[in-house]
Amino acid sequence: MSEKSECSPFSAEGLVAGHHVLDFTNTLAGWGSESPVDSLDDYISLARWSVDAGVMEPTLADILVMKASLESEEAAAALDSARALRTLLHHVFTAFALGEEPSYDDMESFEAFWRQAIAAHRLAFEGDHIEIRPAAFTSLTIIADLITRDAVDLMKTMPDKRLHLCANDDCGWLYFAQSPAAEQRFCGGKLCLNGEVGRIK
Ligand SMILES: [Zn+2]
Repeated sequence: MSEKSECSPFSAEGLVAGHHVLDFTNTLAGWGSESPVDSLDDYISLARWSVDAGVMEPTLADILVMKASLESEEAAAALDSARALRTLLHHVFTAFALGEEPSYDDMESFEAFWRQAIAAHRLAFEGDHIEIRPAAFTSLTIIADLITRDAVDLMKTMPDKRLHLCANDDCGWLYFAQSPAAEQRFCGGKLCLNGEVGRIK
């Protein structure tokens, strides 16, 4: 990692979910509260989060940040799109956590992200098998594309009995419990436990 990296890890406190796709939905705290706290203030925040969560290499994220500074409108659009993806993923995984079926509209909207993510990947022969790899890491939508790809993989394994929605109604964070039998009613997020996203009921 470069010492001058714009995208050095900035916080591990929000990574409590046990999977980076769920951690991505948890970049908004207080889904059910009147004043949610959004960690994704700007494109740099998104790039920094992607490094923190292990989605992007720091040097690649630095390139995205540089590109975002030159293409501010495209970066703003990519951030808006990533936030929309986050909302969709929160809806879908909340449904999974509650043992419900995701809504048709949400799945249809998510499918549009999936099609974009597929278009951003290519098939590469590696040794004795095929791997799905990003076609390029320089697209400003690549972070959302990687999350979408991994979200589909995660959804294919559902229902997972370990997937939980925080028992704090205001919080809305999603996480995997340590084991199927684990009693873990709350997400363990700092804002949630400190009561900064509503009171734990
Ligand atoms: Zn919580």
